Amino acid sequence: MNVQWYPGHMTKAKRMMQEDIKLIDLVIELLDARIPLSSRNPDIDDLAKGKSRLVLLNKSDLADPASNDKWLDFFTDKGYVALLLDSKNRKGFGAINKSVQEACAAKLERDRKRGIIGRPVRAMVVGIPNVGKSTFINSLCKKASTKTGNKPGVTKGKQWIRLDKNVELLDTPGILWPKFENEGIGNNLAFIGSINDEILDETELAMKLIEQLKLMYPGVIESRFETDENNETVVILELIARKRGCLKKGNEPDYEKAARVILDEFRSGRLGRITLEQP
Ligand code: GDP
Repeated sequence: MNVQWYPGHMTKAKRMMQEDIKLIDLVIELLDARIPLSSRNPDIDDLAKGKSRLVLLNKSDLADPASNDKWLDFFTDKGYVALLLDSKNRKGFGAINKSVQEACAAKLERDRKRGIIGRPVRAMVVGIPNVGKSTFINSLCKKASTKTGNKPGVTKGKQWIRLDKNVELLDTPGILWPKFENEGIGNNLAFIGSINDEILDETELAMKLIEQLKLMYPGVIESRFETDENNETVVILELIARKRGCLKKGNEPDYEKAARVILDEFRSGRLGRITLEQP
């Protein structure tokens, strides 16, 4: 799949993030729990060099619970402080403060040795479009006190949200663009809806999703749409079209409409909790 990602926006967003990152101690990296690696931009390691890191697996409510645990172990084994999160329903937020302190332990210790005590940790949320950055920040803010406004010594216009006496969060998240390093990554991003559907062939995409689900979650398509999974993919799509009344004139199956049904049902979790890549 050949996808172009608005290079103009990309350059600007990256430049802004490089500036913002200078102001902070902790990078809070939001990933999509259904595709934790594909939703990760490898540039983040360079951009966040020398900063404390916290990995949040967001949309964990849509991901497979068993895979969630595996991914949590994966990131923990790599030395990250990591958490599962459902920003939409504000689940998992109770553990955030403790995790922030844990992620920043080395920095806090350095401060303490230098006699700096009680300076709040400054954090920033980063992630690819649609991963849930705004939802996450809003959910956090509801609990937190109001914005602290401009501060001396901080670039004009930057707004900080005081989460508690220990943590301040930059209110504008850093946007990273996903890397389409191979077709698998591009497909995964398209499946979860991170790429504009207008620039994709939805029928082709839905057929790829059916194939992937048949491999990774055998029986899911069959039970949801009451179709025999052993059929060829295009036949499965046709059967789904007929089952769901996606028909054109002359009773012809409307493949495009059926494709949108499958993609929608996957993205909204109606096909069940599914993770598309394993550690
Ligand atoms: P941003 O582009 O990274 O700021 O993403 P948004 O915060 O705008 O979220 C994109 C979409 O994902 C919205 O429709 C949110 O409601 C949804 N969303 C965000 N977090 C979660 C989550 O944890 N679970 C679910 N199910 N949906 C979420």
